[in-house]
Amino acid sequence: MTAESTPDFPASAALFERARAVSPGGVNSPVRAFRAVGGTPRFMASGTGPYLTDVDGTEYVDLVGSWGPMLLGHAHPEVIDAVQRAAAAGTSFGTPSEPEVLLAEEIVTRTPVDSVRLVSSGTEATMSAIRLARGCTGRDLVMKFAGCYHGHVDSLLVSAGSGVVTFGLPGTPGVPEASTAQTIVVPYNDTAAVEKAFAEYGDQIACVITEAAAGNMGAVPPLPGFNKFLSETCARNGALFISDEVMTGFRVSRSGHWGLDGAAEGWRPDLLTFGKVMGGGFPAAAFGGRDDLMSRLAPEGPVYQAGTLSGNPIATTAGYTTLRLATDAVYEQLDAVAGQVRTLASEALTEAGVPHVAQAAGNLFSIFFVDGTDTVTDFEQAQAQNVKQHKAFFHAMLDAGVYLPPSAFESWFVSAAHDDRAIERIAAALPAAARAAAA
Ligand code: PLP
Repeated sequence: MTAESTPDFPASAALFERARAVSPGGVNSPVRAFRAVGGTPRFMASGTGPYLTDVDGTEYVDLVGSWGPMLLGHAHPEVIDAVQRAAAAGTSFGTPSEPEVLLAEEIVTRTPVDSVRLVSSGTEATMSAIRLARGCTGRDLVMKFAGCYHGHVDSLLVSAGSGVVTFGLPGTPGVPEASTAQTIVVPYNDTAAVEKAFAEYGDQIACVITEAAAGNMGAVPPLPGFNKFLSETCARNGALFISDEVMTGFRVSRSGHWGLDGAAEGWRPDLLTFGKVMGGGFPAAAFGGRDDLMSRLAPEGPVYQAGTLSGNPIATTAGYTTLRLATDAVYEQLDAVAGQVRTLASEALTEAGVPHVAQAAGNLFSIFFVDGTDTVTDFEQAQAQNVKQHKAFFHAMLDAGVYLPPSAFESWFVSAAHDDRAIERIAAALPAAARAAAA
């Protein structure tokens, strides 16, 4: 039975109907609507460890993890306990409180930032980091990479034009051309394009922002030395290097993707952005960096930035508790599970004769339904995917009780709670899904 023919999930279908009457598309974030894969989105009622259970009572092995935050799995008992105690003590004070200090200390200990400002979403983090970069340099232009997503900030919600180095085009109605005219878009992993942009506009570029490893076009790691090159090129040109670790931070290693490249290569970004894992499933994010830059922020400096719920005591308690539990053993488990699931998926697709690339950036990984290449290094290649194959694969996995990202352009997320039983269920679902993709 296909997802489109309904009946197995009447409660989800009924809720979707009601949701569509009161919310655009029935959702509060577009990808949740299943538009890329068709069918009815499942409304989830609960989550435990590696599993989600929908409102019809069907259990799924979850490979989305709330799009990254659920590093320890759902409803980790210690996180829930800490959150319940925090909530009982009051939900928001609008004053400083201890949990935000604990979370900031943990972030500063793990990453190359001297200090952080806490915010409520990754979008706010990147928007504020860009404002700070512009405020510090007195320059306006921002360079970003095609296929990298940094939240729905006007100036970053751009499409690339057809040239190698282009000024961005509004990625959506509602974004004025005046915003995107300040954004230069270049292909990911293309050092020559970066050099060309700096040669032309070097003295106007405030910052380069990149995902520390691209995860929003599927998982596309930076080529060896690419981030270091960006860091050095920015330094040479008086621009700031912003590494967006909203997705990779505290996930691909205890100190994020920087822990996999910068720490060993001896460089650090000027500013970094974080989100997802550091909120433990609550709205918390951050941007941070060198003291001389961060001290330019209000109230110490002139660059304004603020938030009613920034550093919220429940969100910061959830985040701090999650990070405290994210030990070296947790990262070993994540790496092992990610490797296992990626290999199993790739083997099943190979067995079924489906051309694909199974690619990883640390424990972030995805399957590209592409033919004729064994690696994907930029957005153009990622876009060459056979999305019909992804759609068939996705629905067969869903029918078998495995919840994958409902888009071909997303990374898969595992948690430290994915145990042998969860992996066996994924392994059991894969062969039929691979055959569905081949059909
Ligand atoms: N930056 C990156 C790398 C992301 O992956 C995302 C979200 O997926 C964001 C920024 C935006 O974060 P949020 O959805 O919390 O606004």
